[in-house]
Amino acid sequence: MYIVQSGMNIESYTQILTRYWGFTSFKPLQEEIIRSIAEGRDTLGLMPTGGGKSLTFQVPTLAQEGICLVITPLIALMKDQVNRLNSLEIKSIAIHSGMSGEEIDNALENSIYGDYKFLYISPERISTRIFQAKVSRLNLSLVAIDEAHCISQWGYDFRPSYLKIASLRDHISEKVPFLALTASATPQVIDDIMKKLAFREKNVLRTSFDRKNISYLVRKVEDKGTYLIKTLQKAKGSGIVYVRSRKRCKEVADLMVANGISADFYHAGLTDELRDKKQASWTIGETRVIVATNAFGMGIDKSEVRFVIHWDIPDSIENYFQESGRVGRDGKPAFAVLLYSPSDKSRLIDTIRKKFPAVEKIKDTYEALCNYLQVPLGSGKDNVFDFNMYDFVSKYRLPVIEAYNSLQFLQREGYMEFTEEINNPSRVHFIVSRDDLYKFQVANESFDGFIKLLLRSYTGMFAEFVPVNEETLSRKSAATRDTVYQYLVKLSTLKIISYIPGKKTALVIFTEERLVRKALMISPDNYLHVKEKYEVRLDKMIEYADSDGHCRSVYLLNYFGEESDRCGICDVCRERNELDLSKYEFDLILEDIKSVLSEKNPDAEELVKMIDYPEDKSIKVIRWLLDHNKIVPDNDHKLTWGS
Ligand code: ADP
Ligand code: MG
Repeated sequence: MYIVQSGMNIESYTQILTRYWGFTSFKPLQEEIIRSIAEGRDTLGLMPTGGGKSLTFQVPTLAQEGICLVITPLIALMKDQVNRLNSLEIKSIAIHSGMSGEEIDNALENSIYGDYKFLYISPERISTRIFQAKVSRLNLSLVAIDEAHCISQWGYDFRPSYLKIASLRDHISEKVPFLALTASATPQVIDDIMKKLAFREKNVLRTSFDRKNISYLVRKVEDKGTYLIKTLQKAKGSGIVYVRSRKRCKEVADLMVANGISADFYHAGLTDELRDKKQASWTIGETRVIVATNAFGMGIDKSEVRFVIHWDIPDSIENYFQESGRVGRDGKPAFAVLLYSPSDKSRLIDTIRKKFPAVEKIKDTYEALCNYLQVPLGSGKDNVFDFNMYDFVSKYRLPVIEAYNSLQFLQREGYMEFTEEINNPSRVHFIVSRDDLYKFQVANESFDGFIKLLLRSYTGMFAEFVPVNEETLSRKSAATRDTVYQYLVKLSTLKIISYIPGKKTALVIFTEERLVRKALMISPDNYLHVKEKYEVRLDKMIEYADSDGHCRSVYLLNYFGEESDRCGICDVCRERNELDLSKYEFDLILEDIKSVLSEKNPDAEELVKMIDYPEDKSIKVIRWLLDHNKIVPDNDHKLTWGS
């Protein structure tokens, strides 16, 4: 482990950056954030996606003693980061609801006694008894809260368990700073984040969200298919078309392929293998256009995306900005296009009804879920269940969208949490010592070969759970997969190993005991208030699409509390400014023309030569003045000032 301690300066941070990640300099704001937390200050870092937020807690953690606690809601991303850190030989570990109690306990003990640098945890584990009991024994250096906007009820992605984060302060040294990170927060949400995390002082560091190379366009078209084909046949480079439904994904991709455009589709209903394959093929440029639902986004690392086209209008500026922001990371010109037809507005407004089921329906869904999972009244808290939404709604004959949104409200109210579907590999941990294992091998010859195979194939199994692959073991041993499985189960019942078979599932975690229907509260704060905020967000999105009076880029930036000049390249700027002049330039040229015409009467060509501005600009102003009868030609084309 490479640890620089006293007299830390930015060179040393840069050394760490280079040594582990091979980068030679920091991206904008990374240094400022690192310095701020090095001073022990609570800090809110606001950077767009891809801005490099992870390194703002990873680099300083390596520069000091102790472990960094990282709170992040998506388990798939968490695992990804932990794997990446470990591959850099930075000891890191994760705790999430997809793990068994034994594994969690193990991981915590390891974080306390091992020299781990990062402990990733999903938010719903924070309030669990076991974590609360042990957190004070961690040698914490920093608490990093990723996706910090999830703490705000007013935000678009609220997770109630984030509210428990502040309570960590009761268990840890007051010297440990909090670093909150997000790519998306309105001014109101920014304040809320600092308040809900009990910041000791307000301290926000932000980079501009201005993406100067993106041309934002709204295209009002009835026939989106035709528009798309025509545009993509002309446009160059690769891109993404976002659509709302899985069905539409395939339809639109088919339509493009039928018109000779290289395209494929992507959504969450496909197998992991297929999705990986499609994404990879798009990333390397074999597929030019990917038509996708919003499931496409995590872990996209492609900088030369030339266009993102939204076939359907998203339900918030936050989502739109996030998704369209995937274009043009290379800094070269890129397009973010929103296709908008008059009927889209009413369809979008209609989502309010679907998003907000009647309170009685929410209660119905709660009871159905408790019965489905066989949770008795008065129990269930902290229990984790595998959850198959499709199976649930079909058993209870519930309309799927309504059921899904009801569950969102139950989560919002803090009764339960849901995770995304996660892929958990099988895991093995030896629970006997090497000596005892040896004795067992001698006494049980039939297991000897298999145990040797395990020990040869994997390391670290005496210390912790290690992911194993039954497929691989079967190939290596020429036994069937089932035989391998039987061996593992047998060793587990003999208490030689702890074996957790792999599975892929979504989880539901009860954060409260099951209540009787009458006691189940859906508070106005979590329903009416949320509905109002949702409507405001919708309105803002519709206004963006509907109005052609504001520069698109300025509109988006203002939404996030940032001032900016007109971008000059969005559809509004281009159109209003066919002239392509600032008001200032326009006025200067106009004055000049006026003064020339007060003395002489040249024709247009002569006039251009007589004024002191670039010809193209002067021509535009003269044309405008002619169009508006401000200057008038006589029969010989000589010009006079009109009125
Ligand atoms: P965010 O969380 O803000 O979306 P990430 O932390 O995932 O961004 O980083 C985005 C990408 O930028 C990653 O591929 C990361 O390796 C890269 N990156 C981060 N910092 C630097 C740097 N200083 N120099 C070059 N690349 C960087
Ligand atoms: Mg990130």
